[in-house]
Amino acid sequence: MGGRLGTVKLLVVEDEVRLARALRRGLQAEGFTVDLAYDGEEGLHFAKEGDYAALVLDIMLPRLSGYRVCQELRAAGIWVPVLMLSAKDGEYDEADGLDLGADDYLTKPFSYVVLVARLRALLRRGAPDRPAVLTAGGLSLDPATRAVRRDGTDIALTPREFSLLEFLLRRRGEVVTKSEILRHVWDSNYSGDPNVVEVYVGYLRRKVDAPFDVRSIETVRGAGYRLVAVGG
Ligand code: CA
Repeated sequence: MGGRLGTVKLLVVEDEVRLARALRRGLQAEGFTVDLAYDGEEGLHFAKEGDYAALVLDIMLPRLSGYRVCQELRAAGIWVPVLMLSAKDGEYDEADGLDLGADDYLTKPFSYVVLVARLRALLRRGAPDRPAVLTAGGLSLDPATRAVRRDGTDIALTPREFSLLEFLLRRRGEVVTKSEILRHVWDSNYSGDPNVVEVYVGYLRRKVDAPFDVRSIETVRGAGYRLVAVGG
């Protein structure tokens, strides 16, 4: 068993040097190969370059928090399993970590036996599922990297335009009403001018349709909008 586990490489990102070294010793004794990083930037760099089976990532780190490290890894399309560590009664909670792409979460002080059990469970599960790229004909939107393309050409969108396009793509082929769009893309309490939807649909068309001479965002009179597949 030891021989096979010897090939499993882990990265521990932890700024408390004594804890980091104790973790490395313990995990090495279990047969893992372990690299250490002592701040968020170094951790992110190692995680991007190294081929790790899993990460143990502290949240409170110098230079870049564990949350940011996790977020940037996911944005870079790196789906290594992440076990986050946090101090008890910290200002962060489990939901935040999991929202940002962590796969499991352990509160300090933790039992070493529990850490190893959780790590093994993560390794068995393997890399988490990457959110699917949404497409309609030649148009694609990647929720993980936030890249939008038509026929291979990158399109730059503002965050609001991105959210609107994501919503239309998730409901591809269906008519969505202005009020549904307002509820999902703005928020349920939005009390401004509902014509803002029309304005933003106009912006989107100018970016994802007009330059490519296609019409994928249709206006359905008196009902709303429908995104259809064209090209690709
Ligand atoms: Ca720390």
